[in-house]
Amino acid sequence: MTKDDADVDQVVTRAQRAFETARDSSPQDRAQWMGAIADSLESHRAELVALAGEETHLPEGRLQGELTRTSFQLRLLAEDLLTGEPLEATIDHADETWGMGPRPDIRRVNVPLGVVGVFGASNFPFAFSVIGGDSAAALAAGCAVVHKIHEAHPALGRRTTELVTEALAAAGAPTDLFQAVSTRADGEALVDHPLVRAVSFTGSERVGRLLMERAASRPEPIPFYGELGSINPVFVTRRAWEERGASIAAEYVQSFTLGMGQFCTKPGLLITPTLSEEDTRALVDAVGEVSPSPMLTPQLAEGFIAARSEMAERQVRALAPGGTGTAPAPALFTTTAAEVTEDPQIMREEMFGPASIVVQYENEQELAQVAELLEGQLTATVQGEEGDDVEELLAALEARTGRVLWNGWPTGVSVTYAQQHGGPFPATTAPTTTSVGTAAVRRFMRPVAYQNLPDPLLPPSLQDANPWGIARRVDGRWTGPQAGKP
Ligand code: NAP
Repeated sequence: MTKDDADVDQVVTRAQRAFETARDSSPQDRAQWMGAIADSLESHRAELVALAGEETHLPEGRLQGELTRTSFQLRLLAEDLLTGEPLEATIDHADETWGMGPRPDIRRVNVPLGVVGVFGASNFPFAFSVIGGDSAAALAAGCAVVHKIHEAHPALGRRTTELVTEALAAAGAPTDLFQAVSTRADGEALVDHPLVRAVSFTGSERVGRLLMERAASRPEPIPFYGELGSINPVFVTRRAWEERGASIAAEYVQSFTLGMGQFCTKPGLLITPTLSEEDTRALVDAVGEVSPSPMLTPQLAEGFIAARSEMAERQVRALAPGGTGTAPAPALFTTTAAEVTEDPQIMREEMFGPASIVVQYENEQELAQVAELLEGQLTATVQGEEGDDVEELLAALEARTGRVLWNGWPTGVSVTYAQQHGGPFPATTAPTTTSVGTAAVRRFMRPVAYQNLPDPLLPPSLQDANPWGIARRVDGRWTGPQAGKP
């Protein structure tokens, strides 16, 4: 065992001990712990935002918003926990008259998985990092978390970890419920550790695949929730382009260059009718007006420029070639529906940074044909007008995408009950799940059914008296919730 393995072994063993206490905690307790973390983030807002600014070069406004999102996310998940909804408590009383023959008393509820390993993202120092969506969801589920800090913002990672552990201790949570590790070897040891029951990851397709295979080849394979890459195509109908092409073009450039294009939901493709000279000029001018800022890390800038250069070798023409260095100017390419049909890889290579491709079509039937060439996506958007014939296009998008948008831009991902941030591979490795929104908690739970157990031996969520006052499905019908009222 290497030193890293031994360190991680100690961390995970302590986390397991904490989990064994936490798994019996009530939703009210867990909600209180999460609220305490949110309060602590808010009361250290100025310090955290300054630290994040130093390490990521992201503008203050963006970081302020991201911190708000992070504390909101903790509170929303905590509030949802009080309804009991994530537990999906289901009670089927014994029934002599059941259609297929008498049934026993069966009661099912979701229980926490155990210790969860969470790899933080480079591009969201708060919302997808130390105490971002994955960690919040795992804590809400009743799991213990061991977080792998991203090297893009190590000091922020350490400070946030300190604040989280202090807040949890002050709120009475089990010691070591939340811990962090930091090296790449630590990350590997975390995926391998027999007490780790699931791993979540946000990052590249290459590393995501590597770690997914690692998780699958353990003696006991575990779920691996990887959020990898997405191209996020935006399809524009002919009528929409005629009606409001100029504003679509301006909004598109704003969306793909936002935050230097370092969003998993950046629109990497705009599929439009054949551009006029005027349309082309407007797009090029809009790109020229964007002032570049430094990317999150020099490595990300290097990776972006390499991906952009590889794209330039394909059947595309540069409308704006883009810059070099650590703050490259945005790039815009164009190609045609006929060319992507010949080389669909044009639409499959992510350029993580400020670059995008306009795919021009001659007739509208090509929209659905282009959609059929896409791999799995987090999002796909249609810019259309009422009455447009887009059913075939929508069906093709639904088959490949986690979230389908109408007349919007994919870069904002609100944290809500109905949100779906996921999609077929390579968008994620687990298309039946989401990493954003209240449904994210389910990734870290598994259902257990209890047959004919005496009431006092059942978990509180399934006892007849419903001591947690949660929503439950009893004999097929939903009851409650008396949200948050024990
Ligand atoms: P990454 O290179 O995939 O790294 C993600 C995490 O995995 C980091 O913690 C990294 O540790 C670790 N790691 C890297 N190589 C490893 C290995 N061989 N074994 C074990 N762990 C390893 O992602 P990134 O640096 O954040 O960004 C690179 C690319 O990821 C981007 O260009 C983009 O394509 C994609 N990305 C996607 C999203 C998304 O939301 N889907 C978000 C961010 C990035 P270290 O910190 O030690 O490198």
